[in-house]
Amino acid sequence: MKAVITHGIGDASVEEIERPTPDDDEVLLEISQFQLSITEVWMYQGKLSISAALRERIERGDGRAFGHEFCGTVVETGADVAELAVGDRVYGAGKLSCGSCPYCTNGWNVLCERSETIGLGEYPGAAAEYLAIPTEPLCAVPDAVSDREAAALQPLADALGRVHDADIYTGDVVAVIGAGVMGNQCGQLAQYFGAAETFAVDIDPEKLRLAERFGMTGIDASETDPVEALRERTDGVGPDVVFSAVGGDQGHATDGDDPIAQAIRAVRKGGTFVQVGIVTAEEMRFDPTTMRKRGVTVVNPTGHRGIHPTGPNNDAGEYAAELVASDRVSIDQFAGIELDGLDAFEELVEITANKAEYDTLGPAQISVR
Ligand SMILES: [Zn+2]
Repeated sequence: MKAVITHGIGDASVEEIERPTPDDDEVLLEISQFQLSITEVWMYQGKLSISAALRERIERGDGRAFGHEFCGTVVETGADVAELAVGDRVYGAGKLSCGSCPYCTNGWNVLCERSETIGLGEYPGAAAEYLAIPTEPLCAVPDAVSDREAAALQPLADALGRVHDADIYTGDVVAVIGAGVMGNQCGQLAQYFGAAETFAVDIDPEKLRLAERFGMTGIDASETDPVEALRERTDGVGPDVVFSAVGGDQGHATDGDDPIAQAIRAVRKGGTFVQVGIVTAEEMRFDPTTMRKRGVTVVNPTGHRGIHPTGPNNDAGEYAAELVASDRVSIDQFAGIELDGLDAFEELVEITANKAEYDTLGPAQISVR
């Protein structure tokens, strides 16, 4: 089979390697479509560090890295696999837990001490024709969801976990700072969870237009101070819940104009702040007095991202797929430029790193078959 093999920072090639055989607890997937998250792109470009496990794999020549956002079909099952069958379509909603830390052995795999993202630790990623992997992070894809949508589903499962954790109540006012993929999806989900009004703050008119198409109220941060605008539109109070869906290098959480600081300044007293984007700064300043006086609750996602249980009946991975299948949440607008074949890997990185230049809102995808 063909696979993208990473040799080092910014250095990968497509190679012919042996097709893996699934272990007893694994399935073999034929990958149809995958994309890279911006986090993976930054890792490939050396802007973010990679795990020790992945570094070791690359050094010993097994650089099947990246590709945790994918759609694949089960073509073989290990002896112990009962929950998936040959022919099932799946996407990688969650992470892999270690099975042996105190959290895992007590049934709290969602908080595993050594959980890893598919393709970023000991397990290879989906930038290949086939992938052998335990079933734990996989979720079945309903027929009504296309391969292209399924490959873009993982961020929605992640967003769903965060919106669930934010405890939005019917009638709440919600704001998202940053209306890209995750911001837009948090906004759509907040409305679905009962928000009375949802504001979307961005500087990109196209993202604001898209947010408004989904019923959010756009605020153009290039024309107005978003914190003042949010206060004005809530009688001076501020939104109940604010998501900051902007990543990158941000150094101050309570002063200045970093998106996190805008979110924490904008949220009402006693409100909830949820960080969604990946922050790359090594240090961030929080003024404890500001946080205490304003009584802001900071919510971090608990654990395992997409497989996050939303209750005994469901988990975020399954439910995200159902929401798309039933047209209650739309992600199609964020499934980006489609490229043909693994040889387009460098183009995939280039487009995903510079989405605005390529006039696309979502990460590019590779159609493997
Ligand atoms: Zn564990």
